[in-house]
Amino acid sequence: MSSRTVRLTGWGRIAPTRAEWAEPATAADAARLLETRPPETGATSRGVIARGLGRSYNNAAQCEGGVVISTARLNRIIELDPATGLVTCEAGVSLEQLMVAGLPAGWFVPVSPGTRQVTVGGAIAADVHGKNHHVAGSFARHLRSFDILLPGGELRTVTEPSDPELFWATAGGMGLTGLVVRAVIQLKRVATSRLRVDTVRTADIDETMATLAEHDRTFGYTVAWSDSLARGAGLGRSVVTSGDFAEPADLPPADRADPFAFRPGARLGVPAWFPPGLINRYTVALANEAWYRKAPRARHGELQTIGTFFHPLDGIRNWNRVYGPGGFRQYQYALPFGQETAVRRSFELVSQARAASFVTVLKRFGQGDPGFLSFPAPGWTLALDVPARTRGLAGLLGSLDRLVVEAGGRVYLAKDSRVPADVLAEMYPRLAEFRKLRAEFDPDGMLASDLSRRLGL
Ligand SMILES: Cc1cc2nc3c(=O)[nH]c(=O)nc-3n(C[C@H](O)[C@H](O)[C@H](O)COP(=O)(O)OP(=O)(O)OC[C@H]3O[C@@H](n4cnc5c(N)ncnc54)[C@H](O)[C@@H]3O)c2cc1C
Repeated sequence: MSSRTVRLTGWGRIAPTRAEWAEPATAADAARLLETRPPETGATSRGVIARGLGRSYNNAAQCEGGVVISTARLNRIIELDPATGLVTCEAGVSLEQLMVAGLPAGWFVPVSPGTRQVTVGGAIAADVHGKNHHVAGSFARHLRSFDILLPGGELRTVTEPSDPELFWATAGGMGLTGLVVRAVIQLKRVATSRLRVDTVRTADIDETMATLAEHDRTFGYTVAWSDSLARGAGLGRSVVTSGDFAEPADLPPADRADPFAFRPGARLGVPAWFPPGLINRYTVALANEAWYRKAPRARHGELQTIGTFFHPLDGIRNWNRVYGPGGFRQYQYALPFGQETAVRRSFELVSQARAASFVTVLKRFGQGDPGFLSFPAPGWTLALDVPARTRGLAGLLGSLDRLVVEAGGRVYLAKDSRVPADVLAEMYPRLAEFRKLRAEFDPDGMLASDLSRRLGL
């Protein structure tokens, strides 16, 4: 298999590094890349890591000086049972592919992040969550089994009952237990491809939290899009959208003939002349104001497509370029229930710092799963993205880290690009167990990413 050297970043476009790029077409080819070699022979001595569609914001799918194994060619759906919704596919299959294949028979992905341009392998490795976490949990809850290539090249089929440790170290384990090559996933039954959506505009953080709590009881999907720059009486004002898949009778008569219509379609690109640095505190303040004002005070039962409801950012192919050449940092925390004061404080810190977060999303998590490094846990989650060159950003994020640790929370490994290793260890109580298991499965330390090196994962 030929390989070439490439320069890679994550979706945040910071911290580029170079690695050998391998794109195996079969599990057997991939296994050869994971056969242990003496450290002095070749790039594998600098580590090997899997890469899906590169939608992690950070350097989780990079390996400086080593080998990055792309799953781009491991992209076949092997079987989809229209009666049960059980799908067997290769790990490079994207969630969009699963939607295109499943929807005609009434099946949707059980959990969808804010983009469908994510592979099954990436969804397992980050144990991704969506707007339905409060009822559906994260991705691994719907994973029946996976085939993984371990360091050394052994191929193993793993189910939760057969091998709970490897299962839960891999779900959320950021590619550091092996290369997932195939998975069996239980899809979710839906009656149409549209959603009935309620929208509520909230005046402040208290109303935002109260509305989310109330809507979690009645809707399968909920999220608040917040104005990160609002302050004073308007601190934490948001637009809360909540919904469920519609029934055929909810559709306009003209759409009932094709209730599962789903056209991902062509996506617009950010034009090359787009001025770098257009995302700043002034433009974001204007955009937030316009977006907030445009939202109705309350609207019930609006029909929305999957794209509008779940993946609004996918409409623009490379929207991450609007932050300019400096890229941007995502910060996402989870704080336990009972820490509402800390949630409010985090909004104060962000708005006082005048940090222009373009996408600021607050949501409540339900029950977490046993993933050693799985991120979601019952409580509140806030995601921010801020241009990396924002003045004072390091100080702001450091303050947020302290708030999160004191409140018993954690940051998300699919997004973090700067938390210190000792701080991360305070956030993830099962990190020591994860490292121990890694040492057993990978005594030569073959699997490594830029992220794992920084954090000693
Ligand atoms: C616009 C946007 C919105 C997002 N919204 C959400 C959200 O709502 N919820 C959420 O949870 N996440 C969200 N994310 C993050 C994203 O879902 C995760 O980072 C996901 O892991 C990306 O998958 P990928 O295929 O792009 O993987 P990559 O980014 O390429 O890799 C991510 C990690 O998975 C590992 N990996 C990839 N493939 C394999 C494999 N076959 N075997 C083993 N390890 C593998 C890599 O080594 C790496 O550690 C969002 C990202 C974007 C860009």
